[in-house]
Amino acid sequence: MSSLPLITAQTEEKLLAFLTEHGHTKFRAQQVLDWVWRKRVTTFDAMINLPPALKNLLAEHFRFHTPEIVEIHGSADTTRKFLTKMEDGSLVESVIIPAAVAENGEKSERVTLCVSSQVGCAFGCKFCASGLLGLKRHLTTGEIIGQILSAETIAEKRVNNIVFMGMGEPLSNFDNLADALEIITSHRGLEIGARHITISTSGFVPGLKKLAAYPRQIRLAVSLHGATDEVRDQIMPVNKKWPLSQLIPALEEWSRGRNQMPTLEYILIRDINDSPKDASHLVRIAKRLHAKVNLIPYNTVEGLPWKRPSEERCRSFRDAVHKARIPVTMRYEKGHDINAACGQLRLRKEQEKNGSTPR
Ligand code: SF4
Repeated sequence: MSSLPLITAQTEEKLLAFLTEHGHTKFRAQQVLDWVWRKRVTTFDAMINLPPALKNLLAEHFRFHTPEIVEIHGSADTTRKFLTKMEDGSLVESVIIPAAVAENGEKSERVTLCVSSQVGCAFGCKFCASGLLGLKRHLTTGEIIGQILSAETIAEKRVNNIVFMGMGEPLSNFDNLADALEIITSHRGLEIGARHITISTSGFVPGLKKLAAYPRQIRLAVSLHGATDEVRDQIMPVNKKWPLSQLIPALEEWSRGRNQMPTLEYILIRDINDSPKDASHLVRIAKRLHAKVNLIPYNTVEGLPWKRPSEERCRSFRDAVHKARIPVTMRYEKGHDINAACGQLRLRKEQEKNGSTPR
């Protein structure tokens, strides 16, 4: 494994600083980025309009690398999960979600990628497989971007929507996340609009504060799942350290000066958080934050005693939120919050590696 940094992990600002330091102009930085992101070359030699000395300089200081794709599950027109192997052998899971139909009824060109931000996770949300092996390490900027490049190879299409809802708490890996966001949104990078990027957080307040100061209009989803500390403590261990009395002001700080509503993700769990009283607590928070609510009926996870509420109970919870004029949706697909999309594939593979029984 080479220790040279990846050229695909360089923001425009960092590359420019490097080239200026070595006597090159801004124009050269733009040419390099054009080769990397528009023309998608994978060697410095292929950058044919650069002087040989500059190509040599780049090759001495940077390298190209895309993570090895080790497993793909699903088919071209359905959700596809894939597992990539990082250079240290760590396994990372990502999910490609094609959108079949746009809101106007026409075929949508949207290709969403659910990206991981860490290997494993320290936050241990009670419904999630990613936390079961704990946190191994942060993903680097290059490894976050590498998932997008791998997804484009698999999908044979450009990814144009990104959700940070995979393995890990993205806001606890803020510096690498911020560089990745620069590369993703830059018009000299992947050029995906900030409004097509969603960061999902468990409610990591120090990271939310940094995000509040981050200038781009990235969307935010918060795994709330409990609208009182008593309920949330049971589902989200993060709440013990950063309870609602800290989380809500941090979300208000994020909202200030932005024309954006956060989304409150709320898994409906039978007899845990699905009562009319829970709905009214949730409404109170959503009103205060001018937030949307996304309800997710719980999917059974092996080893956990929780159950999904009845259809009727889910509907009446949704109706109570809707009646209070809060924008509310209910979705059944699996995602970050329902453990399976991100985490289980890696968990099974790690268990196979260690000789334990796959789940
Ligand atoms: S839901 Fe997200 S933050 Fe919580 S344990 Fe899973 S990966 Fe970590």
